[in-house]
Amino acid sequence: MEKFVYDFAEGNKDLKDLLGGKGANLAEMTNLGLPVPAGFTITTSACQRYLSDGSHVEGLAEEIDDHLAALEREMGRSLGDPADPLLVSVRSGAKFSMPGMMETVLNVGLNDESVAGLSRQAGGNDRFAWDSYRRLIQMFGKTVCDVPGAEFEDALHEAKVRKGVKDDVQLDADDLKELVTAYKKVFAKHTGHEFPQNPREQMDLAIAAVFRSWNADRAVLYRRQERIPADLGTAVNVVAMVFGNLGADSGTGVAFTRDPATGESGIYGDYLQNAQGEDVVAGIRNTVPLQDLEKIDKKSYDELLRIMAQLEGHYHDLCDIEFTIERGKLWMLQTRVGKRTAAAAFTIAAQLVDEGMISLDEALTRVSGAQLAQLMFPRFDLSSDPSPITRGVGASPGAAAGEVVFTSAHAVAAAAEGRSVILVRRETNPDDLPGMIAAQGILTARGGKTSHAAVVARGMGKTCVCGADEMEVGRDQFTVNGQVVHEGDTVSIDGTTGRVYLGAVPVQPSEVVQYFEGDLDPALANEPLVSAVHLLMTHADSAARLAVRTNADTGADAARARRFGARGIGLCRTEHMFLGDRRPLVERLILARTEAERNDALSALQPLQRADFLQIFREMNGLPVTVRLIDPPLHEFLPSLEDLAVQVAVAKERGEEAEHDERMLAAVRRMHEQNPMLGLRGVRLGLVIPGLFAMQVRAIAEAAVQLAAEGGRPRPEIMVPLVGAVQELETVRTEAEKIIAEVVGSSGVQVLIGTMIEVPRAALTAGQIAEAAEFFSFGTNDLTQMGWGFSRDDVEGAFFWRYLELGIFGISPFESIDRDGVGRLVRIAADEGRATRPGLKLGVCGEHGGDPESVHFFHEVGLDYVSCSPFRVPIARLEAGRAAVESAGSDHR
Ligand code: ADP
Ligand code: MG
Ligand code: MG
Repeated sequence: MEKFVYDFAEGNKDLKDLLGGKGANLAEMTNLGLPVPAGFTITTSACQRYLSDGSHVEGLAEEIDDHLAALEREMGRSLGDPADPLLVSVRSGAKFSMPGMMETVLNVGLNDESVAGLSRQAGGNDRFAWDSYRRLIQMFGKTVCDVPGAEFEDALHEAKVRKGVKDDVQLDADDLKELVTAYKKVFAKHTGHEFPQNPREQMDLAIAAVFRSWNADRAVLYRRQERIPADLGTAVNVVAMVFGNLGADSGTGVAFTRDPATGESGIYGDYLQNAQGEDVVAGIRNTVPLQDLEKIDKKSYDELLRIMAQLEGHYHDLCDIEFTIERGKLWMLQTRVGKRTAAAAFTIAAQLVDEGMISLDEALTRVSGAQLAQLMFPRFDLSSDPSPITRGVGASPGAAAGEVVFTSAHAVAAAAEGRSVILVRRETNPDDLPGMIAAQGILTARGGKTSHAAVVARGMGKTCVCGADEMEVGRDQFTVNGQVVHEGDTVSIDGTTGRVYLGAVPVQPSEVVQYFEGDLDPALANEPLVSAVHLLMTHADSAARLAVRTNADTGADAARARRFGARGIGLCRTEHMFLGDRRPLVERLILARTEAERNDALSALQPLQRADFLQIFREMNGLPVTVRLIDPPLHEFLPSLEDLAVQVAVAKERGEEAEHDERMLAAVRRMHEQNPMLGLRGVRLGLVIPGLFAMQVRAIAEAAVQLAAEGGRPRPEIMVPLVGAVQELETVRTEAEKIIAEVVGSSGVQVLIGTMIEVPRAALTAGQIAEAAEFFSFGTNDLTQMGWGFSRDDVEGAFFWRYLELGIFGISPFESIDRDGVGRLVRIAADEGRATRPGLKLGVCGEHGGDPESVHFFHEVGLDYVSCSPFRVPIARLEAGRAAVESAGSDHR
């Protein structure tokens, strides 16, 4: 039969799945010989059963009986014994820490009789005993029976007012006894029954309440936001009570072995004398800095420091600790590897390497691309110490300042005049999309990290603070804490911290970006964060198997990406080369009536394209550059139907000549498509419009030959988009090879020809397509669109927020690759392509190339490189290194 209960001595830190983080670490500390009160852990699996089988878990009660009996023997007391009671805490603790989300009940086992026994244990300390009892009723009432906490707080407040005191420690035994009576009334009023006096019943009810707290609304919401699976369940820890509320020689505190904000080594924490549990964090009385404990109780202080050093040495990481001192005796109540800011994650990892505590490989696993991304956002310069007017959820990072506008239309109008605006809404909906695009940032009063505003903003990389619920948003002003902010006033919003400031807070580029750009202020070169980033990036590059390339269409982008560490270009789009002052040439091409006219237009475009390619090849000298032949439907290069129709009508009205516009109008009408994304684009254009691809191929080959002649080393790769059948690629290839042979001659330049895999049919026939392709590049944007059958531009604002809310996706499939569906197409194509052509080069272009989760997937599938926008290159490099280290780690295991 499955074992549901583990004594602390039976567990260890690696059993987090089963014992939860708190239980596993209590067990670990127990086995290290640290002073941990005795106790046991009920497994997450018991919780899962409880929640799915409807409360009765076969065999659980008996196991708890046995472990409780053992605990009672060890402590020499029995639970709630009127003469000499054992008290316990019943504490939640899931695999992933969910701070404040679930429940804990202290002092279980106290009742009207055992309260006297507790007082006797404490040498006749009645005050302490009644204080403990009132805490039990309060926590039990709130947690187990859903009694509104405010009612208890009100009663406590009244007791203090009656007595004319400020602090709860100033209440004496009699006051607290009265308070217990008041609490019991509150309890009975809300539950319809008396506070349970049977200690074992108290414990069982508390355990069940902790199980149920896994599904409390706030816990469900938190898990969704943090992407913690819903089915893990929580463990329950039953721990013998120790008391920090026994007088001035007792107390409770929290500590960190390093500064969780900067990573600096030292002693960080807070201590509160004569207090229990939550008091420290609840802010009911003023805590003192941990250092002051040295004066209060030197012996316990020294022991705590020794233990902190031991824990850091043991976990090889920053530890976060909860402890209690009972009459000069130190007890450890919790430890875990502490949460930290992105900057601290990097500096701590580097420091631990320095101190010889962890290897460089291990250090890489301690940081993430998401953290690096945070470090790359521009930030507010807070040196003037501005104070926020309110705060919400930091939903999409960045720092944005601008004039407040309240409607999408105003945002669009202001942006058109070149003004920066912050769009403020109670909450956004799909109609706000144009305004969201126009604004510098978005601020809402409602909704969390999965609200419409948050999802859309993250998708656009736009700064967003949402759920700032102190704000009252009106038609042309909002009010917050009595302050009125009008349309046109300037605010600054910080999408990382969620803080909102009045006025324009100055913005500065992050030093990490300056470091990547190579223009770091020399004064900052030895700054711990910069050195840490340097150390870890260097190691990531040497560990990685996946190369990182960039998506770049211009020489400037290519140069920047190269500074950011790109090892080539994975996607050079050629469409922008058809825009701007070249538009008339494209119009000529589209409107050509004869072969001669068309050839004229193409010959005019060809040298321009060649110059573009040459510039890019120069910037990427020695590195591969994948150029995609023209992909979008040609009518995208023509004016809109509406504009043309009006122009033609006006000209006719005035009796003017409009032959050119009329021809263009006719062309636009002819070329109109219901679903342009599924229409005449990509390879289809190349097969339908004679000479178009040939012109581009020639320009690429000529640019490469010219660079080679200059002494450079061009490595062009020609990529054919939107192929679904090998015959399409073969047709293009035959023509291209002829041109290349002609241009390249004996220059030694090599040009590869490959294809994008972005149509599901291409993925499924990759074995055939590989016959004609020297490389595949997965266009995962289109593959996701066509795999799911939805168009990105239409759906993200329309319903993705709802899908996220319902849990249909954990994250947008455009942000992170859908492993099960679209990812499966990638896997099939990679495997079958390589079966045909073992040396086939495989890469990915499209947003997923810069997404941390997706990079790990592409590593697993065995691709050669990922390609992403210049700004994401460092993130992809770091994740490529982490993926290699992690998969090597799991091979050893
Ligand atoms: P959380 O997960 O919210 O931190 P905990 O289970 O750690 O909740 O308990 C809350 C507080 O109660 C902690 O500060 C801890 O120090 C205190 N506490 C828990 N168990 C005991 C115990 N057996 N004796 C004394 N204090 C306890
Ligand atoms: Mg805790
Ligand atoms: Mg595409």
